Amino acid sequence: MGVENFVDWLRDAARTLHDNAAYLTELDSAIGDADHGANMDRGFAAIVALLDESTFDSVDELMKKAGMTLVSKVGGASGPLYGTFFLRFGTALAGAELTPATIGEAFKAGVGGILARGKPELGDKTMYDAWAPALEAYDAAVSGGSGLKEALEAAAEAAAKGRDATVPLVARKGRASYLGERSAGHQDPGATSTTLLLESAARTLA
Ligand code: ADP
Ligand code: MG
Ligand code: MG
Repeated sequence: MGVENFVDWLRDAARTLHDNAAYLTELDSAIGDADHGANMDRGFAAIVALLDESTFDSVDELMKKAGMTLVSKVGGASGPLYGTFFLRFGTALAGAELTPATIGEAFKAGVGGILARGKPELGDKTMYDAWAPALEAYDAAVSGGSGLKEALEAAAEAAAKGRDATVPLVARKGRASYLGERSAGHQDPGATSTTLLLESAARTLA
């Protein structure tokens, strides 16, 4: 377990987001401005360009650079939110040994950044509706003695359930909230990309 696993995660996430870009944009066209797939694809393509031109000695340096890349390359809501996630994720792992517990702390710190930036509450129909159950499932798995891979799989499964549960919700944050009741009946794009990121983490980080 080392920096190479996190490089694998970012590269796998970039591929997955690219493959799902049309789908994410279609979801965003129903309740937003039809750019979420393009935003994520552009941001992660810039991260891949960074990986191709530099080497990283530490996870914190890698993830902080990835976060800064998202903040600078992706506009809208999701760039600063995911950018802050990766920045704080990296900061939390500075000098830390990589264990299921410390990686869980990093996920929590990253989601703390999303909370600080976006002020989402559970049920607002945002990416936080995927992150919150994912963190809970991850912690429960680690407390129960699971290793990293199992904990990440539990987190990804919980995120998928949270994503699915956004469908009937009325959006209270972001562009979708402008639609009011008309936002109900559609899956949140950000909760969908969060689930893809966690599924990618479960494939690559262990
Ligand atoms: P924009 O809405 O600016 O076009 P994107 O389409 O890339 O940005 O991202 C939209 C996603 O961002 C939403 O589906 C939602 O999950 C997430 N989002 C928007 N506002 C917030 C917020 N305040 N807190 C958390 N997540 C948010
Ligand atoms: Mg959008
Ligand atoms: Mg936009």
